[in-house]
Amino acid sequence: MIIQLEQNITDSVKESIIEQVKSLNYKPTEVVTQIGKYIIGIGKDEFDIRQIGSLEGINDIHIVSDSYQLVSKKWKVSDTQIDLGDGVTIGADSFAMMAGPCSIEGEENIYKTIAHLKENGINIMRGGVYKPRSSPYSFRGMGIEGLKIWYKAARENGIKIVTEVMQVSQIEEMYDYVDIFQVGARNTQNFNLLDELGKVDKAVMIKRGISGTIDELLHSAEYVFSGGNERLLLCERGIRTYEKASRNTFDINAIPILKDKTHLPVISDPSHGIGIRDHVDPVALASIIAGADGVIFEIHDKPEEAYSDGQQTLDFDESAKLVKKIRSVLQLRESF
Ligand code: PEP
Ligand code: MN
Repeated sequence: MIIQLEQNITDSVKESIIEQVKSLNYKPTEVVTQIGKYIIGIGKDEFDIRQIGSLEGINDIHIVSDSYQLVSKKWKVSDTQIDLGDGVTIGADSFAMMAGPCSIEGEENIYKTIAHLKENGINIMRGGVYKPRSSPYSFRGMGIEGLKIWYKAARENGIKIVTEVMQVSQIEEMYDYVDIFQVGARNTQNFNLLDELGKVDKAVMIKRGISGTIDELLHSAEYVFSGGNERLLLCERGIRTYEKASRNTFDINAIPILKDKTHLPVISDPSHGIGIRDHVDPVALASIIAGADGVIFEIHDKPEEAYSDGQQTLDFDESAKLVKKIRSVLQLRESF
């Protein structure tokens, strides 16, 4: 159950609600986010909702049968919208496009990418400065200095930044330069990282784990929400299956299922989802028809020279074509 508390609730009133939850055989957890105050009750016994609902200090109470609670659509039926400021929003009626190189490579690469994004009406740039690489000998990112250069260029041009944070110690140094912290597929269940991101007042996009289930992704989001941060996005980026013809198996099913289960925006990553440049477009477009709230894809002015993931990276011509297709598919979707 989710009990939404009044903002100005006193400690003693809150304590009596907690006692009542315990008396129903439910385990109470207090959650204070940047937006609201809640008590989450976990238990199985049936009870009469009036036993709690009539108590002082309560705004609303919801019975949520899912094991995740705050990210569930069962209590918050309307879609959540994430506001990045300066008129940039994601979710509900705002579709988001995010594009950029796999890795931030330097000033020239940053400025060329930003010029392309602006020409194509994209206002969120992706790129990694801390790169999780399968081999320690591969390029592992420009680090915080790269992020600072990127931030300066992005702010000059009204572009928002989404970038991966790999460990707790990076959060603080990155904080001033990031609009969306990305949790990578290798860190989806790094619960310490998720706990810490719960304390941050910036948006967080959690990617689905490499072999992660939809349920596990939702529970990862529950960590951040219950840690205090409601500004969350989920990202389907493909999962590892027995199929070898593509880098990952993009799980198109995850899009409508997530949209059904959670009020959070759902983003698709067709680049990592299929891993093959020539096939990024159909996966991107299919995910939009399936209901995605946004798409994140990799672009580079010379993909064959990209420091990482060139094989799945679109050049600027291909990117511009994809953006056009995305806009017409969005129009088509609106007509459904
Ligand atoms: C990325 O976005 O560049 C990335 C490493 O993604 P993932 O965590 O989905 O593999
Ligand atoms: Mn990549």
